Amino acid sequence: MMSVRCGRCSTEFPVKGAGRYPCPACGAVNEVRPAATPEPTLAVPPPAPEPMAPSPKATCPECSLTFIVGEIEMVLCPNCGAEVVVGRKP
Ligand SMILES: [Zn+2]
Ligand SMILES: [Zn+2]
Repeated sequence: MMSVRCGRCSTEFPVKGAGRYPCPACGAVNEVRPAATPEPTLAVPPPAPEPMAPSPKATCPECSLTFIVGEIEMVLCPNCGAEVVVGRKP
């Protein structure tokens, strides 16, 4: 999808391709050339962000808080202080 900006009133309107199109706002005919696109459409989409490895999480059996833990077997819940078994053995 490409668009052209009217040379008289600067209204931007969509066009299907090269050709001559009257401005919908003021009626001025704007010529669209195939090689000279006023605003080139993005040919290359931005790279997708790298999927991050899921962080290990533990859920507290006392308060149901889910929090990120490290590579340890047991951790204290940061909310209520209960011991939470992570279950990740090296
Ligand atoms: Zn116009
Ligand atoms: Zn807790």
